[in-house]
Amino acid sequence: MSEKRLYNFSAGPAVLPLSVLQKAQEELLCLPGAGASVMEISHRSKTFEPIINGAEENIRKLLNVPPNYRILFLQGGALLQFGMIPMNLYGKELQTVSADYIVTGSWSKKAASEAKLVGRINTIWDGKDTGYKRKPTDAELSINEDAAYVYICSNETIEGVQYPQYPVSQSRSEVNIPLVCDASSDFLSKPVDVSKFGLLYACAQKNAGPAGVTIVIIREDLLDRSPENVPSLLNYRKLAENKSMLNTPPTFAVYIVKLVTDWLLNRIGGLDKIAALNKEKAALLYDTIDQSGGYYRGHAEKEYRSVMNVPFRLPSEELDKKFETEANSAGLVTLGGHRSVGGLRASIYNAMPKEGVIALRDFMTDFQKKNG
Ligand SMILES: *Cc1c(COP(=O)(O)O)cnc(C)c1O
Repeated sequence: MSEKRLYNFSAGPAVLPLSVLQKAQEELLCLPGAGASVMEISHRSKTFEPIINGAEENIRKLLNVPPNYRILFLQGGALLQFGMIPMNLYGKELQTVSADYIVTGSWSKKAASEAKLVGRINTIWDGKDTGYKRKPTDAELSINEDAAYVYICSNETIEGVQYPQYPVSQSRSEVNIPLVCDASSDFLSKPVDVSKFGLLYACAQKNAGPAGVTIVIIREDLLDRSPENVPSLLNYRKLAENKSMLNTPPTFAVYIVKLVTDWLLNRIGGLDKIAALNKEKAALLYDTIDQSGGYYRGHAEKEYRSVMNVPFRLPSEELDKKFETEANSAGLVTLGGHRSVGGLRASIYNAMPKEGVIALRDFMTDFQKKNG
């Protein structure tokens, strides 16, 4: 077993910045001032308080989060949000309300099916017939006037399909139809105008930290919708009132989110910087695909290509397998596509260094020469 760190293209849990891991290692046995590890202290201690508050402050700074939004650190992953969103945002009239879902790939599809367990939904657009290769244009969308919210997934991690612009819904703000967004796989990868959303959330293990914590950014007025009979730990209003400390939050995961957001602010220099870097990285791979004369085939239509997840295929499944195996031996690991779609997928989140993407690009060029 190699102990060398390899270029890890995992879709999630995914690569973390080396300097973050080093800092965590340095502080693992003894958090400065605590005399113990961050895992061994009370979440209500004077030492932990600045960690969770610092993580929140960092996210506020990075995304320029307006003051009328609350930031929650929750457990249960993105999947729990699929259910919590309707449980809370449908409000008291659960029987009569429904929400509009835009289904653009596996994750929004799953979100819609989970929401159906809670109440009624309308799927106002579904990309299934066109193979989930693109997002809808605004002209294709007709939002129901009484929708409790409009649900989107900003970046479909499995299909590698991302919104170049978010669909409108804010134009409906006069009737308060909030836009709800699963940003799990492109959170903190570029600047986002949070004020366009009612709720924006992301599990941490793609771009923001380790598994175990999910970040929910919710507009304050929407907290009033949470019905009294929703159990406390699923109730946004109660979670917000208790600053995510209704019970023990995932302290270690929050600590790593603090370090990752420190890294983004201080080492990278903010979201404009990381967005430019991410674009450069993605272009290296998409250009290779486009210049391969059809040897490598991407999935999404060009305009909707994900900057974070780059799925691609070779001329045959045998070659896909061969590519994956040989790439693995070359230190380029976890390139297999999602089990539901096969093929290959390179996830190139914030923490994937440009050198890793260059190494993959060179490997792709070389592989085609030998096997094309
Ligand atoms: C990974 C992912 C999820 C699932 O996250 P869990 O934390 O495992 O529940 C949901 N949505 C998107 C867009 C994802 O990338």
